[in-house]
Amino acid sequence: MSHKVILVMLDGLNYQVARHALGHLQAFCAAGRAALYKLECELPALSRPLYETILTGITPIDSGIVNNDVVRLSSGSSVFHYARSAGLKTAAAAYHWISELYNRAPFDAGRDRHTSDASLPIQYGHFYYADHYPDSHLFADAESLRRVHQPDFLLVHPMNIDDAGHKHGLDSSQYRNSARSADVLLANYLQRWLDDGYQILVTADHGMNNDRSHNGLLPEEREVPLFVLGDAFSLSANAQPSQLQLCGTICELLSAHHDKPVCRELLK
Ligand SMILES: [Zn+2]
Repeated sequence: MSHKVILVMLDGLNYQVARHALGHLQAFCAAGRAALYKLECELPALSRPLYETILTGITPIDSGIVNNDVVRLSSGSSVFHYARSAGLKTAAAAYHWISELYNRAPFDAGRDRHTSDASLPIQYGHFYYADHYPDSHLFADAESLRRVHQPDFLLVHPMNIDDAGHKHGLDSSQYRNSARSADVLLANYLQRWLDDGYQILVTADHGMNNDRSHNGLLPEEREVPLFVLGDAFSLSANAQPSQLQLCGTICELLSAHHDKPVCRELLK
């Protein structure tokens, strides 16, 4: 059975803050309609390398996307590629590095900010390039793509939590409040997405530290949440998913052929 999937990647959201600050998502968990897992991100705990890890199931040392300054197309196969090979429709509302990894590099705002090209791995996209681009606008961008194109796979990737962490650090009201704001925004969409038949994963690339950065092995930099919602998930407390299994597990949900590791226990 094939499903439509929405992947929400809340950039820079640490697990402990996700656990206590995301009240709407935790209400789904308390009602037995979602489950929260703890993932340990691959290394280094940096954005561009881990976008590639999440979307291709390949570690940064193997992908070659080893830091944020590597500006080139991914040489791996991503969820977007597997979905396209299966004849599925793809879309993303995301930071411009996602466009650079899977569509075209370097990013040319006039050409790439709004993308509509059925021949590209990400066929429909709205890509932003300011870290303070409001999450409220980003979620609206994503919802617009969803309503207009009805993609089988949609990536939703807001940046304000990471931006607050770089300005104020992990242990700050600004960082925690930006996580709470993302949850309030998600509350506008989650039930609608579920009612339209989407399976939903909400995760983060990496966490945040008190030095207003992230790269290494501190638990607060490395531990990130994975919430799953939808009737294709087992919600089993025994599942132990890893970041490397997200790509393959999403492809299983899409019924798209792939050759990546899967967390079977996450699925029914
Ligand atoms: Zn960051």
